[in-house]
Amino acid sequence: MSQREGGESGSAADPRMRGFKTRAEVAELWNWIAATIRPLDAEEVPLFEASGRVLAAAVHAPVPVPPFDRSAMDGYALRAEETFGASAYVPAVFQCVGRSRPGQRCAAAVGVGEAVQVATGAPMPAGADAVIPVEATRRDGDRVWVSEAIPQGRHVSRRGEDLAGGDLVLPAGRLLRPQDLGVLSAVGAATVRVIRRPRVVILITGNELLAPGTLARDFQIPDTNSVMVQALVARDGGAARVVGPLPDEEPTIRAAITGHADDSDVLLVSGGSSAGPEDHVPGIIAGLGQLVAHGVALRPASPTGLGLIRQGTLPVVLLPGNPVSCLCAYDFFAGPILRRLGGRPPGWPYRCVCLPLARKLISLVGRVDYARVRIRDGQVEPLATSGASILSSVSRADGFVVIPPDREGYPAGAPVDVWCYDPHALDPPQAGQPDPPPPNPDQSSRKAHHTPLG
Ligand code: AMP
Ligand code: MG
Repeated sequence: MSQREGGESGSAADPRMRGFKTRAEVAELWNWIAATIRPLDAEEVPLFEASGRVLAAAVHAPVPVPPFDRSAMDGYALRAEETFGASAYVPAVFQCVGRSRPGQRCAAAVGVGEAVQVATGAPMPAGADAVIPVEATRRDGDRVWVSEAIPQGRHVSRRGEDLAGGDLVLPAGRLLRPQDLGVLSAVGAATVRVIRRPRVVILITGNELLAPGTLARDFQIPDTNSVMVQALVARDGGAARVVGPLPDEEPTIRAAITGHADDSDVLLVSGGSSAGPEDHVPGIIAGLGQLVAHGVALRPASPTGLGLIRQGTLPVVLLPGNPVSCLCAYDFFAGPILRRLGGRPPGWPYRCVCLPLARKLISLVGRVDYARVRIRDGQVEPLATSGASILSSVSRADGFVVIPPDREGYPAGAPVDVWCYDPHALDPPQAGQPDPPPPNPDQSSRKAHHTPLG
């Protein structure tokens, strides 16, 4: 994409006047992000709201699970050795002396030749050491005939067999899954300490922008970036608020930035990030704090900036307004910052597959390329369009290939890593065709999730 250089006014300190004579390396900015961004503090949330949140501290079991010896079957609790030798031809006979029900203390005890009827989950009666399933019994009044021998401990779920008291239940940093919430409930936790959700203010700038979902009119276009970025933020565990579209007026944008500095954990500013006369954001950030980088050796997001304001505590990402650049800049910088703030793994939450290129993929040495591609018949097709403003190109794309700065691209047939936008849509089924079989984990073309973000 072509770079707009310089500005028509401003002092030598005005970042617009410097243009992009030098550009930061992607790797350099990733290092800066890794060294600078720390997880937020913790908050207590009810289990019912904790799915997908990140555990702030390890959880240990305060009590054993299960908390008492219990039956794992519907049947009869008895002494296992008294079933030895029993068969369908020579059943062993027991006297049924009571019943144990879930949720109640069991008053009955098992003596020699005795059994107690038990339900799954009910406490084991004293004296019993095994449960014979009801299927292997026949009942007649107080008499129970047992047609099978069982060893000691069979169908008894022992106190602490799942978790002993003091056991580690879940480690800090765990992205809580639904079953984790179940385990937490099992150890009596009603709430759980999780990393606070990053509060993200998305500031949209541009004189030409209408509210999202408005028909274009009078040389004005609907804002696409707020809806796209708020969805990315939600995916990455943040809580987004959109401000704007704001006009390209320095005082208005400055007031919006300072006005949200105290109620956000990261600011994402869309548009006005480049080096043209309407690009006020770099100067504002430089004035309020530090413009860490302005201009990145990355296509199509070279007019990206990174800053720190609020005494170096509030990261700001200057996202280019071009929608594809905006997505690329989010993927490369805003996403990793957000995920680190929220205590998540910083790497891309995209599935990576290695497949051969259908055609050559061209890039320039000296910059990272974010090449949108499709996957067809197991091959990677670069999408012809290279325009940073062609949002439909990313909608059509299945994913992207990152071409490192030391490569001129890849020849046809070369295997490349594709980062898939949709984790489930690997070669999506065409209309009228049956669903593909579920993925085979041994298939060599599917690699485990890995990431260049470190
Ligand atoms: P800017 O980064 O502000 O110089 O904008 C670059 C290009 O992206 C211009 O063509 C803008 O009209 C377009 N653009 C900027 N912001 C948005 C937005 N939020 N939604 C859609 N297009 C935008
Ligand atoms: Mg603009």
